[in-house]
Amino acid sequence: MGTTANFQVLRHAVIDASVADRWKTALLEWEVISVEEHPTSEGECVCGQTNLLWMYTIANDANGRTLFPIGSTCVNHFGRTDLNRQITVFRKLLLVRDAAKSGSPITMDTNFFSRAALSFLYEEGVFTPDAYNFGDGWNDYDFLLKMFGVRDKDAITSKQRWKIRKLIDLKITPFVLTDSRLG
Ligand SMILES: [Zn+2]
Repeated sequence: MGTTANFQVLRHAVIDASVADRWKTALLEWEVISVEEHPTSEGECVCGQTNLLWMYTIANDANGRTLFPIGSTCVNHFGRTDLNRQITVFRKLLLVRDAAKSGSPITMDTNFFSRAALSFLYEEGVFTPDAYNFGDGWNDYDFLLKMFGVRDKDAITSKQRWKIRKLIDLKITPFVLTDSRLG
């Protein structure tokens, strides 16, 4: 099935599950709420596209209905920046989780994070208040955002490295290993 045919199938599935009865308005009712990784990359999108590794669930804000699995190509078809941003955030956090599971190093750079991913973690309350952040998780978020933005990673001091490591190990890793939205 070609891309156009897939899009027609997606469009019908979305409109059928929406309150609005036209694609242009129906597409505004949806959010990306979770992702699952297919163990052998054989997921099949509701549009018929096969061999999905990342299978997203989208939920309708207006009537509570969900559609699963949805591939990233179909999320792109919605043409909404916020949805595309959310799938990127989920994908980054899955990479963090996979590395945490296998015990490989997790670095504070674009291999594992994005500004949006850090913002998501902050909004989810991952940076709990403690003595190191003076009782305000925003300080952890702000620190990590600055470290993420450092172009020359060799310029990061050993003290800063230690702090990054602690935040990844004690706050981010437990979240990505247990959050139900990550499969
Ligand atoms: Zn699809």
